Amino acid sequence: MVTIATLGEFALIERFFAPTAATLPTGVVLGVGDDAAVLSIPRTQQLVVTTDTLVEGVHFLPDADPLLLGQKALRVNLSDMAAMAAQPHWYLLSLALPKETPLTWLEGVVNGLRQAAVRPGGEVALIGGNTTAAPLGARSITITMLGLLGKDRAVTRGGAQVGDRIWLSGTIGDAALGLAAARGELTDLDEADRLYLTGRQQLPDPPLELARALQDSAYSRAAIDVSDGLLADLGHICRASKVGARLDLHKIPLSEAARRQVAGQGDALWPALLAGGEDYELLFTAAPSVQSQIEQLATQFGVRLSEIGEVVAGSGVEVSRDGVTLPMAQQGWDHLR
Ligand SMILES: [Mg+2]
Repeated sequence: MVTIATLGEFALIERFFAPTAATLPTGVVLGVGDDAAVLSIPRTQQLVVTTDTLVEGVHFLPDADPLLLGQKALRVNLSDMAAMAAQPHWYLLSLALPKETPLTWLEGVVNGLRQAAVRPGGEVALIGGNTTAAPLGARSITITMLGLLGKDRAVTRGGAQVGDRIWLSGTIGDAALGLAAARGELTDLDEADRLYLTGRQQLPDPPLELARALQDSAYSRAAIDVSDGLLADLGHICRASKVGARLDLHKIPLSEAARRQVAGQGDALWPALLAGGEDYELLFTAAPSVQSQIEQLATQFGVRLSEIGEVVAGSGVEVSRDGVTLPMAQQGWDHLR
């Protein structure tokens, strides 16, 4: 088997990371191949930076498809860019890999990254990185992504106002169910639903272009991407904005597959759906007066958007159904616990 050690670090960089295009990507003065990259930032813009790591055994199983892993590694960073409403332009890749890692695995990851980097607004360009040996055997992929945003135009967690409506893209809880399905914890699951749910866990689809359009129109006042669970992430908005939130359980969007699980398992499943991680959907608040404009944008970008509740005075997140407040024990997934 050809491993990454067979090739060696410099040949690896030459093979996978050397620029393929004749011209440098937008804004890149110096890209891959020198000690550091040099970027040119337009005067009217600010630089937005985020980073995320996927670790074998923590975020993915040893037999995970490397093509999907590469796509996911990039997309979870796109999700943070969407949360800020920034336009992603460049990324850095850091790999820690055991010497016996098959070359085909790395090839898969790199292809996945390239596929996910192609966006309607232009390709997110690789501008550098680092490869190191991981003696303890667990592979890890770290992406640092850089984007641009008009001066002081970031949509932060702190802008929610009492009376705002709370909006959520896509559906919630699929990734948590997908993980449970992959671990064999869901009985009574047909093959189509299993594929759908595990697919949602493996390949998040953050609505970046919609997030940009919402910011462009100044509709979104506060935003976050749902990575640690809806309740926890809405809680972050509440704390940063010094407000409370009231959710209506009837309005929480579920996929057909998740709906079938709730029908089978009953209400006991709800806390897991509302607190499950890795949805990578967009959660934002907006004034009630722009509801129809927001719905029009959602249609235009082909994104399912649901109004799920409202921002209230006070603190914390309250979930109710038919006027009755529900006890919610789990507030989301704390990675360090
Ligand atoms: Mg985030």
